[in-house]
Order: sequence, then C-alpha cells, then structure tokens
Amino acid sequence: MKIAVLSRNPRLYSTRRLIEAATLRGHEVKVIDVLRCYMNISSRKPSIHFEGEDLVGFDAVIPRIGASVTNYGTAVLRQFEVMGVYPVIESVALVRSRDKLRSLQLLSRKGIGLPVTGFANKPGDVKDLIKLVGGAPLVVKLLQGTQGIGVVLAETNKAAESVIEAFMGLKADILVQEYIKEAGGADIRCLVVGDKVVAAMRRQAPEGEFRSNLHRGGSASLVKITPTERSTAVSAAKILGLGVAGVDLLRSERGPLVMEVNSSPGLEGIESASGKDVAGIIINHIERHAKPGKTGTRGKG
Ligand code: ADP
Ligand code: MG
Repeated sequence: MKIAVLSRNPRLYSTRRLIEAATLRGHEVKVIDVLRCYMNISSRKPSIHFEGEDLVGFDAVIPRIGASVTNYGTAVLRQFEVMGVYPVIESVALVRSRDKLRSLQLLSRKGIGLPVTGFANKPGDVKDLIKLVGGAPLVVKLLQGTQGIGVVLAETNKAAESVIEAFMGLKADILVQEYIKEAGGADIRCLVVGDKVVAAMRRQAPEGEFRSNLHRGGSASLVKITPTERSTAVSAAKILGLGVAGVDLLRSERGPLVMEVNSSPGLEGIESASGKDVAGIIINHIERHAKPGKTGTRGKG
C-alpha cells in the first residue's frame, strides 16, 4: 500500500514509529506537511500538490494534525477523502474531537459517564453556573487547550468565580467541571484502535499537581483496566467516529468518567509504558480496513 502520514515533523517519535511499522510491512510511506500542501478543488479532478508533486495513488492516509493547524489540516484530510483515499481517522471525527464541548455533548447524549460539566457565555451567569456544577472545588478549562495548559483547579467558589471571570474577560471559551478528587491526580489513557483498547497506561501527576499530562511532568505506568473501563473507552471512540483515539478516563466513585478523547494520541508514552507495538497495530488496522472510497463522509460535513 501507499500510505500518507500527515505530519509536520518526520522526526517526531509517533511519526517515526508509524513510518517504521509501515515500512516493515512492505508499504510505501510519505510524510506530508499539510501546511505546504496546495489543492485544486475542482469537481472533475480534485487534487493535492506538495513540493511540486501531484499526490496520487494513495491507499490510506494517517492524520497526525497538531491542534494549531486543525483547520487547514482537516481541509487537506478532507481533500484526500474527496479523492477516495481511506482515512484511518475521518475529518469530521477529527474536528469533533478538537472541540471539548462538542465531544462532551455527543458523549452525554449516548449516556457515557462524564464529570458534571457546565458551559456559559455571559459573566452574569457565573455564580449560578458554579452552583449548577455543584460548587468548589472545580476545574475550569479553556475549550481549545491541550497538554494541560489552560486547565485550572479552583479550590473555593470565590477562586472559581475570579478564574471564570478572567477567562471570560479574555473572550476565551471555557467549561467548568466537577473536580474528581478521588482520582488522586491520576488518569487512565486507553489507546483505542478500531473496536479494541490495544494498550492502556496510568498517568500520575507529580506531587502538588493535579494534572497528569506527561508534558506537565506526569509519569506513566502500565495499568490493568476493568471491563467497564474498556467498554467505556471503546464506546467513546465509536461515538465520536474515531478509528484511532486516546480516551482519557478518570476513576471516580461512580465508575469511569470520560475526560477527553484525543484524535492524535502520542505513541511514545503508551508504547513504553505498555510495551505494545501500537504503531504496528495501527498499520494492521489500516491493512484490514483500507478500501478506495471507504470513508463515512467522503469529505462531507
Ligand atoms: P488537556 O486537553 O489540556 O490535556 P484535560 O481535560 O485532559 O486537558 O486536563 C488535563 C489534566 O487535568 C487531566 O489529565 C487530569 O489529570 C486533570 N483533570 C482534568 N479535569 C479533571 C477533573 N474534572 N477532575 C480531576 N482532574 C482533572
Ligand atoms: Mg488531556
């Protein structure tokens, strides 16, 4: 097969591992920087060009699109879909997963366990909003944030009010969430490929920190997940329509709660914590599913 990896940096661990795993299985791989692609959006012959080359003959595309280039990146991915190339993650699903509020709404509609979460727009609503989600301690999150940046723990109602007002004053979109204290600064990352959790790890925040992101100094270890955790993670990925996803769960007194679903999960932490060849599993999944024109949306939506 000829596989395109949409990544801005071929030296990144995850990109390198995908190249390695695909090459090992006899596939041809091309790493494409989406920002350097230009496209011809014509109805008879849609095309994508990169460094003077017409990108044709691809069987599958693996998007590894960073949050800061979501918009243009998904346009390029959509163009591959229009051309009939199989995407391991569809553009529509990718866009959904990048919006925390939208993702939570879709998950709640299907009855997936979630932390109590509120969203508001006008500063006049702040006190009532805090009451609505059960009062402090609360977690306030920037909707567009990643890697733990823009996630704040407010331990009192007063602090929550100030943080919410400050974010709103900056015209940032936020959500306000029940703080799951019993999770103890840890979360569970489940790597879902197709309809299976193929690897899982527990991430623990360092002393004095509640955010377990590896970028914030969290440490990863192997974890055995329960059948409920497994089915929750698989359902969450399915509801968002993601063929590959990193589903983050918090262990709460009322069972696993989905905190977020990541559509470009990093492979380094999970491969070293679990000892699994996740890149190889992703390529195997593509081998089993890639067919010309096999995308739920064909670039729609
Ligand atoms: P990001 O997209 O920036 O990673 P997250 O929503 O994943 O944002 O939050 C970052 C970290 O903060 C999580 O990995 C988790 O450890 C902690 N966290 C987030 N929300 C909660 C919550 N409601 N209760 C307890 N801890 C939380
Ligand atoms: Mg996170």
